[in-house]
Amino acid sequence: MPYLNTQEAETKLELLSLQYPALCRLVQLTNITYEGRTSHALILRTGSRVKRPGVYLVGCLHAREWGSADLLLYLAETLLISYTNNTDVTLIGATFTADKIRSILENVELIIFPVVNPDGRTYNQESGISWRKNRAPTSQAGVLGTDINRNFNFLWDYPQYFLPGTYPASTNPQWETYYGTAPFSEAETKNVKELADLHPNIRYFVDVHSAGQLLLYPWGDDTNQTNDPLMNFRNSSYNAMRGNIDDTTYSEYMEQVDLTRYQNTSNRLKLALQQVRSKQYTPGPTSTTLYIVSGASLDYMYSRHIVDRTKRKIDTFLIEWGQAFQPAYSEMTEIIMDVSSALIELCLTAQELPLTNKTPDPLDFKTIQLGTTKTIQLRLDNLGIGAVELFNIQIQGTGFSINLTTLGPIQEGDHSFIPVTFVPPANGPATGKLIFKFRKPGVTTEDIADVQLLAAGCSVPKGSCTAPVFSPSNWFVCLLLAIAAPAVILGMLILIWIPGMLCALKRFIFRVQHCTQGNDNPCIVLIKYTLWPLSKRNN
Ligand SMILES: [Zn+2]
Repeated sequence: MPYLNTQEAETKLELLSLQYPALCRLVQLTNITYEGRTSHALILRTGSRVKRPGVYLVGCLHAREWGSADLLLYLAETLLISYTNNTDVTLIGATFTADKIRSILENVELIIFPVVNPDGRTYNQESGISWRKNRAPTSQAGVLGTDINRNFNFLWDYPQYFLPGTYPASTNPQWETYYGTAPFSEAETKNVKELADLHPNIRYFVDVHSAGQLLLYPWGDDTNQTNDPLMNFRNSSYNAMRGNIDDTTYSEYMEQVDLTRYQNTSNRLKLALQQVRSKQYTPGPTSTTLYIVSGASLDYMYSRHIVDRTKRKIDTFLIEWGQAFQPAYSEMTEIIMDVSSALIELCLTAQELPLTNKTPDPLDFKTIQLGTTKTIQLRLDNLGIGAVELFNIQIQGTGFSINLTTLGPIQEGDHSFIPVTFVPPANGPATGKLIFKFRKPGVTTEDIADVQLLAAGCSVPKGSCTAPVFSPSNWFVCLLLAIAAPAVILGMLILIWIPGMLCALKRFIFRVQHCTQGNDNPCIVLIKYTLWPLSKRNN
């Protein structure tokens, strides 16, 4: 059996969606390739569970690595057949029971995008010319092709971020690692991002490549370090210093908990792969296991939650299968089993990961008057499979405090709260961070998350008349208030000789004027010193 051509791969994807409509559905991507091809992905899930971790698999970003498409289609079909017939999956020496396969389809959402770069793959298969990139025009007339795996938005513009003389990509359109005209300039890269944006539940991303028998994880721009959080890809003071793995001037920061999880998970994939026919794949970070890269899919997908706090953390892996781009198909068939074993194992691992959602983030205390205290509840939702527990809850930042260090277990689908208190230490803004680790009880896999804390302290001269603190009202309530206001003001003016009435009048007018906006600042002074001491108003 030969490799599938690109049209056959697309047809196969559609066929699976028609054969197993209760287990999967076909999704059409919105970005059409330069040669006019429409791309598709297959989403596998069944059963009643609504919230579930997503596992996102992509292949053929690089044109000549044909087998990635065959591999991902084989995996999809194998899972669908096993689920339908309730049979075990046997991959030479590796076996997954029917129950395990069932758990994947019923607990995980599997998103499979086998041919990201159909133009390049078709060109390579039809012309026989070795080709890596897509087939779209570049900044240089007559020169075609951008390297899709250098076109993601992570340190994309490498000449400003990396040490001069290092080449994590290329600015030259004639090179195989040409980075494109902008991050996400290519339809193929946009399509990979689109599926990630559409599925905020994604917890794992795997980019399937060839060759070298490697199991890679971030980072790709430099060596990993876990000591200095400020030494990171967003810190411009390290520009032009990244990319030399032999020096200590720059290393990319990763939380120790994340690094440990990457090491454990990649080892687990390695062992599952080894079960098939004892092939040895080497796990490790991209930068030190393969070479340095910029604009790569793994680093982009893993960095999304750091750049945008509303996004879920995605653990990312890149598998470099086999020893050649296009091995004989008899060998490819066995490589397909090697890698499928690792990917099925990853889907089982996804069910052991704790999944939480934290709201609000940032936790904003607004402005607090010195000498007073405010407590806000941070809400934690358990979105994972089974219970979750929080431990090692810590707080950073002067003035912020918590009175617990562990929380839970929180049952599946349930939520809990962490009360966070702020006592302003001084006038002016204050920032802090709430950090917590979490896991499923009895499972060793740990994760870490943090919540930003924002606040400000303020003070007023003693005896001042201050503006009231209140929430915004809708326009109808404010209209009624405005209609009633003249009569109220007139009444207050008649009684203005009563101590405190002037302040009450000022506060009432402020309330009417700011009715739709509300006010969260307790230190707006309306009258600096009142003639008579006021009893403290409690807002
Ligand atoms: Zn590749």
